[in-house]
Parts: sequence; C-alpha cells; structure tokens
Amino acid sequence: MAQQMGNQPLIVLSDDSQRTSGKDAQSMNITAGKAVAESVRTTLGPKGMDKMLVDSQGSVVVTNDGVTILKEMDIEHPAANMIVEVAETQENEVGDGTTSAVIVSGELLSEAENLLEQDIHATTLAQGYRQAAEKAKELLDDIAIEVSEDDDEYLEKIAATAMTGKGAENAKDVLAGLVVRAVQSVADDGVVDTDNIKVEKVTGSSIEDSELVEGVIVDKERVNDNMPFAVEDAKIALVDDGLEVAETEIDTEVNVTDPDQLQQFLDQEEAQLREMVDSLKDAGANVVFVDGGIDDMAQHYLAQEGILAVRRVKSSDMKRLGRATGATAVTNVKDIEADDLGDAGSVAQKDIGGDERIFVEDVEEAKSVTLILRGGTEHVVDEVERAIDDSLGVVRVTLEDGKVLPGGGAPETELALKLRDFADSVGGREQLAVEAFADALEVGPRTLAENAGHDPIDSLVDLRSRHDGGETGAGLDAYTGDIIDMEDEGVVEPLRVKTQAIESATEAAVMILRIDDVIAAGDLKGGQIDSDSGGDEGPGGAGGGPGGMGGGMGGMGGGMGGMM
Ligand code: ADP
Ligand code: MG
Repeated sequence: MAQQMGNQPLIVLSDDSQRTSGKDAQSMNITAGKAVAESVRTTLGPKGMDKMLVDSQGSVVVTNDGVTILKEMDIEHPAANMIVEVAETQENEVGDGTTSAVIVSGELLSEAENLLEQDIHATTLAQGYRQAAEKAKELLDDIAIEVSEDDDEYLEKIAATAMTGKGAENAKDVLAGLVVRAVQSVADDGVVDTDNIKVEKVTGSSIEDSELVEGVIVDKERVNDNMPFAVEDAKIALVDDGLEVAETEIDTEVNVTDPDQLQQFLDQEEAQLREMVDSLKDAGANVVFVDGGIDDMAQHYLAQEGILAVRRVKSSDMKRLGRATGATAVTNVKDIEADDLGDAGSVAQKDIGGDERIFVEDVEEAKSVTLILRGGTEHVVDEVERAIDDSLGVVRVTLEDGKVLPGGGAPETELALKLRDFADSVGGREQLAVEAFADALEVGPRTLAENAGHDPIDSLVDLRSRHDGGETGAGLDAYTGDIIDMEDEGVVEPLRVKTQAIESATEAAVMILRIDDVIAAGDLKGGQIDSDSGGDEGPGGAGGGPGGMGGGMGGMGGGMGGMM
C-alpha cells in the first residue's frame, strides 16, 4: 500500500491485514480470555459436569479435564490461546489444576476490566498483579503442610483428590493405591519421571480390576509358536538391530549360475544366523527382545534353544526393559556378553482383555512399571486415563516437593483474606490491583459452590468468617455444602498445583492486559472459537493464525456461550 500517505501510521499494512488499537484491542482480548475461562467453569470440582466434544471427523471425547477440553476446542483467537497455554503449562508442570488455573486467569482479566474502566493504567495493574502473585506464593508456603515420601496413606489422599469428579471417581480408592505404588516404584533419589510409568488401557472389564505390574508389558507376542510361553529366572538380552542377514548383500552380489553356488550362499546365511543365536546362547540369554525383524531360520534356532524371542519392539519399550531388568542393549548381537543381560523372575505371554502381551515381571527394582487400566468402554477408559494422569502428576510433585495444601477452596480463601491486608501496605493505585487480585482468587471457591448447587455468596461468607477465625484449612464440602476442615476430610493437593496456577494465570493475564495494539496479517474472517472453519490444521490453522481474530470478538464470546 505504497500510495498510503498523510496521516497514516508508520506501519504500512497490506490490504488483508487488520489492526485494532487502544481500548478496543484491550477489551477484545479481555473478552476472548474470559470466554475461554467461562467455557470450562462448569467442570470444576467434585460436582463439576463433563463436556462432550465432537471433532470435524465426528470422533467424540467426553471429559471433565480442563486442558483436554481446551485443546480439543480448536481455539483461534491469539489472546484466547494465551489462556489455553496457561492450562498447558499447568498440565506439563504438575498435571492437575488446569481448570482452576484457567478460571483464575479469566477472573483476573474480568477484575482488570473494571479497573481499566476507572482509568487505572494497565501497567499499574500489571505491577499490582505481579506483586500480589509473589506475596501469594509466600503466603501459601507459610500454610503448606509437610508430607513425608513414605506416608502412603497421605499420598493416597492426594492421589484420590485429583481424581474426584472424574470418570475414575468410583474406583478411586483402588486407583489411588495403584498410583502411589507406581510413582514410588519409579522414584529415583526423589526425582520421578512419569515416563517410566506406562499406562495400558484395556476395555471390557470394570475399573476396579485395574492393576499395577511392577515391570514392563510389551504389546507383542513371541515371534514363533515353538518358543516357550513363559520363562522363569529370565536372562534378558536386548538387541538394537534385527536377527537377519542384510538382504542387500544377496541381491547385489549373488549371481547364480549353478545350484551349488546358491546352496553355498544359503549355507553361509544360515551359518551367520546360527552364529547370532549361538552368541545369545553362550551369553546365557533365554529371552531376547529385538528392535528389528527375526529371520525364519533364526526363529527356528532360537526355538530349538528354548529362547523366547520378541521382534519389532518399540524403542520406548526397549528403554523401559533396560531400566526394569538392568539389561544393556547391544547393536551387534555377536558382541553380547553375560554382563549385558538383564534379570526378571518371569517373562510370560499372557492374555489381557483378549489380547496377548508379553509380561516381564518380578524384577528386583521396578524402575519401570505398567498400570493396566480397565473399564467398560473406550470412552470410559480414556477418561479414567486422564484422571490417572492428573493423579500421577500430583503424587510425583508431592514426592518431589514434600508440601501440600488443603483443597476445597481453602487456600484461595485464605489468600484472599491475607492479600487484602497486604494491599493496605502496598498503597497507591496498585493497592486496588492487589485487592482485585484477592477478589479474583475467590472465583475458585465460588465456582465450587455454584457447581455443587450451593449458594456461592453464603458459602463465601461462611468461608471468609472461618478463615478470619484462624481456620486456614476450612473449605467447602462440595457434597453437603458445609464448611469443614479439608485436611481432616482428606482433600489435599500439592502446594505446587496452587503456586503454578497463580504464576501462569498471572503471567498470562498481565501479558494480555499490556497489549494495546493488535496487528493481524492475512485475511480476517472474524474470530471464532469453534472449528467450523473446516480446516484440519488444528488451532490457529494455516493463515488463520493471528488472522483469525478479526472484528468478531463479540461474536466469539457469543459463539462460545452458545456452544457450551
Ligand atoms: P482442576 O482441573 O483445576 O484440577 P478439578 O475439576 O479437578 O479442576 O477441581 C479441582 C478443585 O476441586 C480443587 O479446588 C479441589 O480442592 C476441589 N476438590 C476436590 N475434591 C474435593 C472435595 N471432596 N470437596 C471439595 N472440593 C474438592
Ligand atoms: Mg483436578
């Protein structure tokens, strides 16, 4: 647009781009952020409802999990996406508390809107919010309860709290025990890598039949029927290659002119395979997991030696097998030695939900475990898995940090109270921002009450007065509506769930508030939060990225409301 002159701004935009500035930009972004938070609100807490999400292919997800809902929703608006990122960060860092984090973020924006209308500057607001968040983290640390890493009973309460209100709830006692055992098994010097906990989903039984296998389950069968079904006192070899003779050698080099020559080559090939199997046998292996294929002839020799062999094992499974059994993988099977082998009390092919799999069990120190989740239908098992993910996350974080907080809105209420005191010491206009921050935190208990069908105002008033009286653990019993001590009730969550939520919610809100200019490249078709734009590109699909925001922000908020 070179012909643009006169009072045009410095930035020269293409015909396709669109720009929104000042208060319009601010309110557009705030509306978008709030809309995202609004969309998950009703799922919060033990009595939160689920959502059914249908994608463009018609596949259905039924879930109560904040981050899953937001990821499935295919949100395009850039400010809205910043709120989705809050949920994603929460998911990655702690695994639980995604809905809470998003709701707080939305409420921080909502409170900010009021202050902006009173001509409080966004920068002042941002500073006040940041100060409040810092203070909040300190205050939470003060009221945190210490938990020791071998307090199984307490850890199970934490595991169970994360499952409340999800598909796993009915069986949460059984599952909480499994989750705690799983995390404790893989813990290494206080560090837990939940990648070492594999979750296998099996449909066709009840959730209570879920079990923990201390060891590894490989979703494969033994390669040959003449091999043993089970091996006791297993000596396990891991081969990062195939048990085959590279085919190219034959293709390129053999030029058969007479039958003897062919026989010679075949003999040579056989001899090589025989040598491979002999190396395994000489090392003392009676089980072998192979990354590549296994030649028929090699299978035959292996079976003859009574060795159980599995081929095309995924590299993630190889890693787990190594961790669980102490085996070292070799690339060249001819180099294998007794030292490279791992140990397991038993390796066996077993039927699980109509599927044959290889179970590697009775390992000395199960540094890698498999949680077999069962459930009536696929949708049920999928949602149980999401609940288990959250639950594994909170137990991991508790083992790492050793600090927890009572749930049920107790910490939020306590913080709101203390932050209002703190606000007085801040003074100036930032005081208003700190007070707004305190108000925003109460969205947690308020929403818990609302979703449970209790009067949110009454509940908040009760909560405040109990906390005023020094009961830092007082929270809302979502089932009865009474205010009770949450720790006594066994509703406890890791400290990090709350500190992380406050941190990312604040960062996202501040970032959104500081924007006063939105310049979008590409065509603007009006922002929408639904996925009817048809593309398969996923959130912010091609060219739609920032372009998706358009002038239709009001339409977006409305669209969401209509959708949910
Ligand atoms: P999130 O994605 O934020 O974890 P949830 O739907 O899991 O959302 O709800 C978490 C909230 O529910 C937390 O504030 C937690 O303290 C509260 N909560 C969990 N169990 C109970 C309970 N039995 N009574 C009251 N509140 C509970
Ligand atoms: Mg939760």
